[in-house]
Amino acid sequence: MQRGWLRMWGSLLLAGVLLVITAAPGGAFGSQRPVPGPVVRAFDPPAKDWLPGHRGVDLAAAVGTPVRAAAAGRVTVARGIAGRGVVTIAHGDLRTTYEPVTAGVRAGQQVRAGDVIGTVQAGHCASGCLHFGLKRGDAYLDPLAGTDTEGTAGPVRLLPASAVALARKLAAERAAALAAGDYPGSGSGVLLNPVHGRISSPFGRRFHPIFHEWRMHEGVDLHASCGTSIRAAADGVIRSVSYDASGGHRLVIAHASGLTTHYLHAQGYQVRRGQRVQRGQVVGRVGSTGWSTGCHLHFGTKVNGRLVDPARYL
Ligand SMILES: [Zn+2]
Ligand SMILES: [Zn+2]
Repeated sequence: MQRGWLRMWGSLLLAGVLLVITAAPGGAFGSQRPVPGPVVRAFDPPAKDWLPGHRGVDLAAAVGTPVRAAAAGRVTVARGIAGRGVVTIAHGDLRTTYEPVTAGVRAGQQVRAGDVIGTVQAGHCASGCLHFGLKRGDAYLDPLAGTDTEGTAGPVRLLPASAVALARKLAAERAAALAAGDYPGSGSGVLLNPVHGRISSPFGRRFHPIFHEWRMHEGVDLHASCGTSIRAAADGVIRSVSYDASGGHRLVIAHASGLTTHYLHAQGYQVRRGQRVQRGQVVGRVGSTGWSTGCHLHFGTKVNGRLVDPARYL
């Protein structure tokens, strides 16, 4: 039963990883991404019109890359603005904008989804990108929101190019392992899931929920309500019990083979440094101390001091 549960959980994780992948080349407004590159800057609309923000998404693209219409429509703007070209296409009550672009279409022209409407100019990102926007009336919308190819609603995960390549590689590994009945996150069971919670945020680079910038997520966040028992993931010895501003109440347990497990953001722990604990033994309670937006357990693993994705062991 536990194995089945872990398998289901592994599948969810796999789906999460695949969502990361499919969000990069996958669906957008309409079905056509204007350029194939990954998102390098996310949609971040300002709370008020006059405040700074990012009123579209930036897609990585070298200068000269062909830009394609995201959906069928009529070109309403095709011109240079302050030396930078802009193309706007009306699709019913929605409008898409593409900049900076050397326009290859004229105002008034009808285009189909996927038609080339120009090429990317330099100037928006240092590394080269297309700014892609979507508006309804005066409101800026996220042109990539909720349209991943899994058909699930919810936020599309946005990754820089390097992370997309890594995530793609990991997903391929996991898909192969799953097909072979050997998915490392679906029941190798080396470690006990310390709160029996699903992974709400995976290991790896992510857009940080508090700092709003790309940071390494050095473990997985496990879904658990405040006060849930935290259990030792394996037999071991308590290496440290501490408090710091980022991790809040933090616990480290040392296990065999150079493996350590790390538990962050707890309300507190009921064990002491040097104490021996057994797999499954309650060591503390879930909280939201440190840099945390709500109760959950951050769970990390290291092997000989190097970070490893805990999902490999769960
Ligand atoms: Zn932009
Ligand atoms: Zn975390």
